Amino acid sequence: MNTTNPSRRDFVRALGAAAIAAPFVGIAGAQEPGKKLGVALVGLGSLSTKQIAPALAKSSKLCKLVAIVTGTPAKADKWMADYGLPKTHVYNYETFDQLATNPDVDIIYVVLPNSMHAEYTIRAAKAGKHVLCEKPMATSAADCQRMIDACKAADRLLAIGYRCQFEPHHRECRRLASEKVFGAVKYVEAGFGFKIGDPAQWRLRKGLAGGGALMDVGIYALQAARFLVGEEPIAISALETKTDPVKFAEVDETIVWTMRFPGGVVAKCSTSYNFNGENRFRAYAEKGWFELDPAYSYAGNSGRRSDKLEIKFDAPDQFATELDDFAQRILEKKPSSVSGEEGLRDLRVIEAIYQSIATGATVKLG
Ligand code: NDP
Repeated sequence: MNTTNPSRRDFVRALGAAAIAAPFVGIAGAQEPGKKLGVALVGLGSLSTKQIAPALAKSSKLCKLVAIVTGTPAKADKWMADYGLPKTHVYNYETFDQLATNPDVDIIYVVLPNSMHAEYTIRAAKAGKHVLCEKPMATSAADCQRMIDACKAADRLLAIGYRCQFEPHHRECRRLASEKVFGAVKYVEAGFGFKIGDPAQWRLRKGLAGGGALMDVGIYALQAARFLVGEEPIAISALETKTDPVKFAEVDETIVWTMRFPGGVVAKCSTSYNFNGENRFRAYAEKGWFELDPAYSYAGNSGRRSDKLEIKFDAPDQFATELDDFAQRILEKKPSSVSGEEGLRDLRVIEAIYQSIATGATVKLG
């Protein structure tokens, strides 16, 4: 559905641009001109290689890659060459704690399999560094709390890699919801999944992943629903189906869950590792609806509204935006925009979803 009203479309674009520009007001003068915060990337897998390192090299205004932590020596050689890193700034999982004595490193970005997030976040905080940790924050709410406590004890800032919270289409939808542009939101539908390949990968091992599709991508639908409603769910009911019990012997394949929020809004969410195509949310309000589809992609997200307007922005790199927001918070000594507490809230809901699947009962939260 394309917009038929260019001037209103432009207005919608401008609003979104303002929404993402707002967090960066005041950058000038917040630091020595030209001095960027140094980032150590931990775990040089797909996300670090294809998204984060390029974002640091090309798009970030406040951060730069200064060190790497890897268990694979061949990767270390390539990254040193590609990013001009000295050998002194290359670490492995045993020498990780020596990051404490590297003054070039301000931020440690944990991009490891999920169950390793807690250990390396806590070790990073103990090394005296600020920590950006990928989603899901950890594989249990208890671990999330330990991570929060460790960062507090070290007086270091902690942020979780919720890139969509900075994404202009998401921010515009949040605005439509909070400003009640279509009246109060009554119902949210959100889903994200994909058909997972290689059966030997860590994402299918409970010990490393903590769970399946829900932990990995269902969390985006959960985040979107919470972000749009602006409240914490108080009742969760979930159902799982497993059509390939061999491939998904250790982790969940497909889950559908519902959430009731204190103000009466309900959300129906879904996630799967066994089919492609679901990457969306839609919010139904008193006088209309708005949606993103695709919603959670690195680029190319777009949306529509019931009044036939398009929701479409030229979106900046999501990882650069997230890193720069974190750096700005550090420089201005402000709380993290995507805090450990925010990650913990999601893990509480995820645990409730698994509990509801296990017991067949609605789980009350709050
Ligand atoms: P990959 O499997 O591609 O990379 C993980 C890396 O972790 C490996 O390459 C390896 O790096 C290191 N590692 C250390 N120990 C192990 C181990 N036992 N098994 C496997 N890898 C190990 O995963 P991704 O990069 O896709 O995901 C990493 C994290 O980022 C996950 O938590 C995921 O949820 C999150 N993620 C977030 C996204 C987002 O949009 N925010 C998108 C994709 C992922 P090395 O060889 O250098 O030691």
